[in-house]
Amino acid sequence: MGKTAVSIGANTFQFFTRNPRGSRAKAIDEKDVAAFLEYADQNDISQILAHAPYTLNACSKDERTREFALETMEDDLKRMEYVPGNCYNFHPGSHVGQGAKEGIRQIAATLNQILKPGQHTTVLLETMAGKGTEVGRSFEELREILDLVELQQLMGVCLDTCHVYDAGYDIVNDLDGVLEQFDRVIGLDRLKAIHMNDSKNPFASHKDRHEKIGEGSIGMGTFERIINHPQLQGIPIYLETPNELDGYAREIQMLRECMEK
Ligand code: FE
Ligand code: FE
Ligand code: ZN
Repeated sequence: MGKTAVSIGANTFQFFTRNPRGSRAKAIDEKDVAAFLEYADQNDISQILAHAPYTLNACSKDERTREFALETMEDDLKRMEYVPGNCYNFHPGSHVGQGAKEGIRQIAATLNQILKPGQHTTVLLETMAGKGTEVGRSFEELREILDLVELQQLMGVCLDTCHVYDAGYDIVNDLDGVLEQFDRVIGLDRLKAIHMNDSKNPFASHKDRHEKIGEGSIGMGTFERIINHPQLQGIPIYLETPNELDGYAREIQMLRECMEK
């Protein structure tokens, strides 16, 4: 994956820890790990981002489903220790009618079981669009989860531009205001990654359908402001747009071109 990233002009990448349905992951091959670490070092690949299977639900009504989320995430975090100093992102979950408050409690309970003192991975909550009963539809809900986590220093947040726009944060007309809100509620020091996606749907639609950069309702101007925003410098950006490799290469180039020197 490192080589593919470099071949399209990237200096980082996001990957799924196992197939998105959450089945068994491959055994760790220590030789592979060593080869990757060396390649990453030689090619200046910085902070990579692991993504948990998106079918996990740490706040399902069903206890077995919650246990499965816990076991899978715990195993993923063990694996992440082979590549220390990176991040592991997950969707908080859907409370499926139990109410956001109960969902938040269950998510935090899971985190309190899987986070281990001394681990070398930061676990990120992703901002969600708020479709169905998704938890994490507002900065406040993410704050509430963080507040219930004991090892809070091991936690951060990943901001998905499509999700927050669909959730009703107007990054198009008031990026500064949204960042100010993020800072007040969560703290910008907790922002460890950005998922950069345009949106197929209008503002506050609570839909979550990603569009290619510049081709959706968010538009190129906003992405240009994001990558040049003084408060967002140094935060790694990951594309999750509907593209093949050549499309990602073009988007990376386009974004690099509008970076202010
Ligand atoms: Fe995601
Ligand atoms: Fe995302
Ligand atoms: Zn999404």
